[in-house]
Amino acid sequence: MSDAQQPSEFDATTAVDEFEPVDVFPSSEDMDLRPGADNCYKCTSCDTSCPVAEVNEDFPGPKFQGPEQWRLKRHEDVDIDDSIMSCSNCMRCDDACPSSVPLSQMHNTARGEYVEKHMDKLSVEYLRNRMLANYRTMATLGTKVPRLANFVMGLDITSYLGDKLMGIPSERDMPEFATETFRQWWKQRGGSKVSNPDKQVAYFHGCYSNFNTTEVGKAMVRVYEEFGYEVLVPKQQCSGTPMFANGMLDDARREAEVNVRELGAAIENGAEVIASCTSCSMALRQEYPELFDIDGIDELAAHTWESLEFLRVNEDLEAKLSEAEIDSQAFAYHAPCHARNQGIDHQAIELFRELDGATIEDVGDSCSGISGTYGWKSEKYETSMKIGAEMFDHMEHAEGDVGMTECPTCSMQMNHGTGYEIRHPLELLEEALL
Ligand code: SF4
Ligand code: SF4
Repeated sequence: MSDAQQPSEFDATTAVDEFEPVDVFPSSEDMDLRPGADNCYKCTSCDTSCPVAEVNEDFPGPKFQGPEQWRLKRHEDVDIDDSIMSCSNCMRCDDACPSSVPLSQMHNTARGEYVEKHMDKLSVEYLRNRMLANYRTMATLGTKVPRLANFVMGLDITSYLGDKLMGIPSERDMPEFATETFRQWWKQRGGSKVSNPDKQVAYFHGCYSNFNTTEVGKAMVRVYEEFGYEVLVPKQQCSGTPMFANGMLDDARREAEVNVRELGAAIENGAEVIASCTSCSMALRQEYPELFDIDGIDELAAHTWESLEFLRVNEDLEAKLSEAEIDSQAFAYHAPCHARNQGIDHQAIELFRELDGATIEDVGDSCSGISGTYGWKSEKYETSMKIGAEMFDHMEHAEGDVGMTECPTCSMQMNHGTGYEIRHPLELLEEALL
């Protein structure tokens, strides 16, 4: 009898006691990404939906940046690949994956680790990225002296030096600061004109509606008050979106802690949280609970809405709009990538079809290419414009010559590529209903 045929001395009791599972992918992280990585069955849907991979053949794509790199870096001697910094955090791959692999969570985690461990903190790239990620700090200073700041930022020499010294593309025009911030306007106004403890919403205006396009925030307040809501404007910080995209997770956590605490207090008193920027609502709903473990973070995610979405669900907005009318106008609408992830990319099109005088045309499902701070980097500018080319072309072929979108940086890119005026759906709602 050969050894292989010897009767087994297997003792089930001993074997169970001695069994030690082998951790194939050892992880010390609190938020274990292994189940997500294991879900990937390599269909490559994410890769074919990635706008960066489409125009940049050196970019290895979301499958590599996500499950593949995650597995590779489990080994101590493998560093995060620097190509993670070429991902724009558009999150289209998240939406494309049929197997719910948490791609953007993997990308954000990997980018954070790359910046923390491998980026020279004194390099121009790091300092530029930190400045872009902390736009709120720059805007707080700028809006102390908005006219002077706008004048200086509009000078050719500023633009030239910004490009040469900091890597901010001179092709782009810096957004103008408002002479009165949204919060200053709110204070001056005396807060909400409606008092209604049963219908309260806490407005997360984010940075751009506060410091730049204050008319969006004002439209939000007036439209919601028209529906009988008492609007609250709690203390708040940046949503953290530009920080995730630049791998500055400590900065993002600092901001998230304040937002979770302040918005959480409003939620405890019965309010729902409304954001007018789709990237802000995305951060509060998805990125916060994916990346941080803060008390109240899940409640905030569950009670956050985008501004049109909330009204469509809780009010008969369609009926109200079907009775309204505006002077004839045609709009070229672009759905931001982050709206797609929240399933609200068709809402403006569906809604304004009901409005007499408005013609609204979807300019397709391509990415605008700017992705927050991505297109504000000289080395990414060309990629950003190549990605945006399809949208520019569709806008130019649309009937209207006014653009529309919910995202402030898509709005900058739309204006940059076509010269069109760009409006937020809330502004059109205000015009139609008030
Ligand atoms: S987030 Fe966007 S750019 Fe980054 S890998 Fe996914 S699809 Fe590509
Ligand atoms: S789409 Fe999802 S399952 Fe398919 S390759 Fe990408 S991560 Fe894997």
